[in-house]
Amino acid sequence: MIHGSLAPVESDSWQSLLASSITDPRTLLERLNLDPALLDPALAASAEFALRVPEPYLARMQPGNPHDPLLRQVLPVGEELLAQPGYQLDPLGEQHSNARPGIIHKYHGRLLLVVSGGCAINCRYCFRRHFPYADNNLSTEQWHQALDYIRQDPSLSEVIYSGGDPLAANDRRLAWLTREIAAIPHIRRLRVHTRLPVVIPQRVTPELIEALCGTRLPVTMVLHCNHANEVDRHLGSAVQRLRAAGITLLNQAVLLRGVNDRLDQQLELSETLGDHGILPYYLHVLDHVKGAQHFHIDDRQAQTLVGQMLGRLPGFLVPRLVREVAGRAGKLPLPVELIEIE
Ligand code: SF4
Repeated sequence: MIHGSLAPVESDSWQSLLASSITDPRTLLERLNLDPALLDPALAASAEFALRVPEPYLARMQPGNPHDPLLRQVLPVGEELLAQPGYQLDPLGEQHSNARPGIIHKYHGRLLLVVSGGCAINCRYCFRRHFPYADNNLSTEQWHQALDYIRQDPSLSEVIYSGGDPLAANDRRLAWLTREIAAIPHIRRLRVHTRLPVVIPQRVTPELIEALCGTRLPVTMVLHCNHANEVDRHLGSAVQRLRAAGITLLNQAVLLRGVNDRLDQQLELSETLGDHGILPYYLHVLDHVKGAQHFHIDDRQAQTLVGQMLGRLPGFLVPRLVREVAGRAGKLPLPVELIEIE
C-alpha cells in the first residue's frame, strides 16, 4: 500500500529496494517460473488489492513451487474475489477508533500512530487491506495535532508506531517524532510494529537505530514473521544490529492455511526466532477481512496446534494464540491446553 512517489536513490539502498519491488503479477510468475494459468486470477485479484513484493523477499521463495509458503502470502488468487458472509472491509472496526488523522486509539494506556501508509509488501491476508490510508497521510499541522492529542491524555504510557509499515517513513521523520514523543513526560515506552526488517533487512541502518534509540524511551520492536523460510542471513544480521542497540525483539505471526498451519512449521518458526533472540509473542487467528477467507483455520485446529507446541517447546517459545475483536479492550486469548504427542 504505497502512496506517493519515491525520490531516486542509490541502487543498493533500502529505498531503492523498496522502489524496485515487483508489482506486476506477470513478472512475479515469470521470475519464479510458475504456471501462466495463474496469471488471469492474479491480475483480477490485484486490481482489488495491488501486488507488491520486494526483491529480498522474492529471493527466499523456491522457483517452480506454487505452494511456496512465502509466495502464498503475496500471490493474488481468484478466491479473494468470492463473496463470503462475515468477511468485512474493516473487521476490527478501526475506522471508529481513528480518533483523529494518524491516531488509532483502541486500548487503554496506549495508542497507534499511523506513521506511514506505505508497506514494503502487500500481504493478501492483511486486516488493513481496505484501510483509508489516504485520510491518514498527515500534514505537518496534523502531526502537531496528533502530538497534542498524546500530550493531553496522561493515561497514555506507550506509543506504538504502526502503519502501513512505520519503517517506510524516512529516518528524519522517525527521529523527529521520537524526540517529540520522548519529551512528553507521561510516555514511558515506544513500540514499533513492523514487517520491513523481515522483507527488506537492509532497512536496519545505523541512522534508523539512532532515530529510534536516541532518546530516553525503551524501544520494543514487534516483527511480523510467519514462516521460518522468511529468516535468512540478512535478516539475522539486521536482528543482531537491533539487539546490539538494546531493542527488545518480539514476533507476531498470523496463522494461515497453506502457509504455517502444520505443527512442524510452527515449531521451526519458534525455534528459528529463538535462535536469533526474538521471542514469539502472538499467533493471531485470521481477522475476517474481505478477500482473505481462503487463509482461514478454524479455532479448534488452531488451539490443537498451539497445545501441541506447548508439549514440544519451552514456554517462552510458544506464542499466545489470540483473536482481535472489534470494540474489546484488548486481544482475546483463546484457551489452549497442553497436548502430549509421541
Ligand atoms: S500485514 Fe503488515 S506488512 Fe503486510 S500489508 Fe498489512 S500492514 Fe503491511
